[in-house]
Amino acid sequence: MRHEMRAEYAETDETEEADGGPAGAWPVKTWHMVRAGEREAMCGRVLRPDARGLSEAEWGRTPEPFCHTCGALYLRESP
Ligand SMILES: [Zn+2]
Repeated sequence: MRHEMRAEYAETDETEEADGGPAGAWPVKTWHMVRAGEREAMCGRVLRPDARGLSEAEWGRTPEPFCHTCGALYLRESP
């Protein structure tokens, strides 16, 4: 199964999307792992559709923290 990393931002209130600016300009709060093609992280958190994505190869290499729940589930599913 393929996975990709998706960013959770410190500002996640979607009602403020209009004046929040492009998601890529916001600081990343936490990285989550998402199954390819899904919007919901493996821990159950729904991420913004325009959230930054990274290859799963970057797992553990980002300066920002990684979601512990996603990490545990990802390790169980990865070969
Ligand atoms: Zn997560």
